[in-house]
Amino acid sequence: TGTGTGTGAETDTHCPYCALQCGMRLRPTATTAVTAATPAPAELLPVEVVERPDFPVNRGALCGKGQSAPALLARGVRLTEPLVRDRPGGPLRPAGWDEALERVAAGFTAVRERHGADAVGVFGGGGLTNEKAYQLGKFARVVLGTANIDYNGRFCMSSAAAAHRRAFGLDRGLPFPLADVPHTGCLILVGGNPAETMPPALRYFRELRENGGTLIVVDPRRTRTAEQADLHLQPRPGTDLALALGLLHLVIADGLVDEEFVAARTTGFDGARAAAMAHWPDRVERITGVPVAQLRRAAELFGRAAAGMVLTARGPEQQSKGTDTVGAWIDLCLATGNAGRPYAGYGCLTGQGNGQGGREHGQKADQLPGYRSIEDPAARAHVAGVWGVDPETLPRSGRSAYELLDGLGRPDGARALLLMGSNPVVSAPNAAHVTARLRSLDLLVVADLVLSETARLADVVLPVTQWAEEDGTTTNLEGRVILRRRAVDPPEGVRGELWLLGELARRLGVPRGFPAEAEQVFEELRRASAGGDADYAGISYRRIAAEDGVFWPCPDPAHPGTPRLFLDRFATPDGRARFAAVTHRPAAEEPDREYPLYLTTGRVLAQYQSGAQTRRVAELNAAAPGPFVELHPRLAERLGVADGEPVAVVSRRGRAVAPARVSAAIRPDTVFMPFHWPGAGRANSLTNPALDPVSRMPEFKTCAVRVERAEPA
Ligand code: SF4
Repeated sequence: TGTGTGTGAETDTHCPYCALQCGMRLRPTATTAVTAATPAPAELLPVEVVERPDFPVNRGALCGKGQSAPALLARGVRLTEPLVRDRPGGPLRPAGWDEALERVAAGFTAVRERHGADAVGVFGGGGLTNEKAYQLGKFARVVLGTANIDYNGRFCMSSAAAAHRRAFGLDRGLPFPLADVPHTGCLILVGGNPAETMPPALRYFRELRENGGTLIVVDPRRTRTAEQADLHLQPRPGTDLALALGLLHLVIADGLVDEEFVAARTTGFDGARAAAMAHWPDRVERITGVPVAQLRRAAELFGRAAAGMVLTARGPEQQSKGTDTVGAWIDLCLATGNAGRPYAGYGCLTGQGNGQGGREHGQKADQLPGYRSIEDPAARAHVAGVWGVDPETLPRSGRSAYELLDGLGRPDGARALLLMGSNPVVSAPNAAHVTARLRSLDLLVVADLVLSETARLADVVLPVTQWAEEDGTTTNLEGRVILRRRAVDPPEGVRGELWLLGELARRLGVPRGFPAEAEQVFEELRRASAGGDADYAGISYRRIAAEDGVFWPCPDPAHPGTPRLFLDRFATPDGRARFAAVTHRPAAEEPDREYPLYLTTGRVLAQYQSGAQTRRVAELNAAAPGPFVELHPRLAERLGVADGEPVAVVSRRGRAVAPARVSAAIRPDTVFMPFHWPGAGRANSLTNPALDPVSRMPEFKTCAVRVERAEPA
């Protein structure tokens, strides 16, 4: 196992979904030859998932999404031939690859000639392998010459990434392995719900408590994760920053600052102290709704623990002040000496499958491979050297994801778009507006494995290989670079993204530099990343397979990789971590008379992100068939709504209708909607695209809404 390609052998690989990237083993079924059955019933799928207990992150455990992933291989579920649209508003019809690619190349050429290189935009995804993310960034800069490339990871963890870099000089989601979690003394999990998003990770929290450690969960909802905590703090959405400052205030007031650590390894504590001391506990209670007694207990538990960790997820990050909010939590870690030593520190639980690797290799508007700044002359020279181009020809920083989507079809925006591995019609904020912008394009090209809601709008749809049909690396939430292996042959008519980028490059006048083989791309990626923050130079496919993954940075083949960062020094110029020293401010939109409630959004166990894949898996769809509006019994009573009855949630941007789910687990001033579905129940019809000034993250996690009774659909 572990080296299997094609059919006949078991293949060790990884789940296609979330950032935990659980190890799994694919075993050929007796009916491998029937991949092309239409539609393939489950028993005719070419592979089945079996346990892979030797992979250390999940030790064989999988959630239902991973277990059912082979269903995505069924022919009836996925695209098997290119589709083109002959006229605006006309139907999509099957086409050959030649015709489809010619149409794309001619369309991009026409738009560039008429409107300039930046008029062709590229939108990538945090689920793409490292090789695809790298090649997409290179394609945008070298072939299209456009500055306008960004990706849906901007919507995921960009605030944590920005705060991480600001504080430590380098961003890796977790600067320590998950295996460290059970050995810390107190862990604060802020705005994350791994019981639903990545259940096998719960084992680490369970072991932490079995070892005598304490788990504190911060979430406006009493989630399945919060139920397992020793202490659950339930703040109003958008007030996590004030909560962190309140805890820092109490840590300082109680004399729990690690003065030695602060003096030796940090800068800027005076500013952070001044900011925190202005946030008295009773003021913080007024802002957050968290009682002072609970604040005191949390500060005591964290401040007195021999080692402490703070992990954030989308709750504090997807805010228009997300970078500062994460910065405030990092300040709490720094003040208590909880960074740069074993079993302590700050980390981010990245969401998408390659959320970590996806942000390292150049599909982000402001970055080049190796997690380098695109504005840095030395970085430009290095990467241009690897690509064999003049650094002067490389575009500068382009628009961030929402700004790119918002500008589509406008005179100064992109008029054509190549979109890979994303479904913004469902997953972007202010989604009705984004959908209208997509419709206004001269040419929309979507590469996907299924006919997603966004692909349905496209002029050209390119069917691509997936997970079990291709080789490639991803980087899990720990910074561990891992290998997905090809276990089955793709259906005829389906091609890999690397192949199609090479074909498009050739048709656009760049005949070399875009190989279709993933390992060949990875070898170039190693050279491009060498010397950068995310240095993969010492990592090879062979090493990954032999070592169950290699942690970056790994600058040469003899280097063991770096599971724990910052033990000797932080990656800042002076080696010291920097306090953020931030103050609370309201969300871009707070409840008022017209829209008196908070809306917060999130995920459910059986669905993944925009649902484009999981909604096509029968057993997942049966477990979570549609959206709902979670609301407190007191609110339900006031509205005269019973459990299961339809309600409309209305914001300044739109309206969504879904059945009420009445639950005392949520604050009475807040409603929750999962965002996996399109149509009338689309949560992102409501969300606010107000952007964080540093990370350009939209404020998915809080906006003002009203809730009304609705007519049954
Ligand atoms: Fe896949 Fe994430 Fe579930 Fe693991 S936790 S099986 S990686 S979806």
